Amino acid sequence: MNEVAKGKLIWYGLCTYWTDDWDNLNLKGSQGIPSCPECENPGFQMTVQEWNEGIEKYEADGNPGYGECIAELKEKCHGKTTILELWEIKKGVLAEGSPEGEC
Ligand SMILES: [Zn+2]
Repeated sequence: MNEVAKGKLIWYGLCTYWTDDWDNLNLKGSQGIPSCPECENPGFQMTVQEWNEGIEKYEADGNPGYGECIAELKEKCHGKTTILELWEIKKGVLAEGSPEGEC
């Protein structure tokens, strides 16, 4: 799985952690479910192409700088704070101090 996934699939968690190197992930339980190595939250996967297209589309939809924010979050866990919450803090939509952290 890891050799197939490497460089082709992005894993992203509910906690801002994302990676293209599945060897970094924690394999949870007897079934080896990929999870964040820091907070052990489970996550999702998509192809690198889907990942990049999603970022480009969101940037083009009035969110310039989002891709840079995402790049800075690579392999960083922010616990219960999501990527979208961090982005909204950075844009000033959410008040700082609600969830913790920044891009
Ligand atoms: Zn995490």
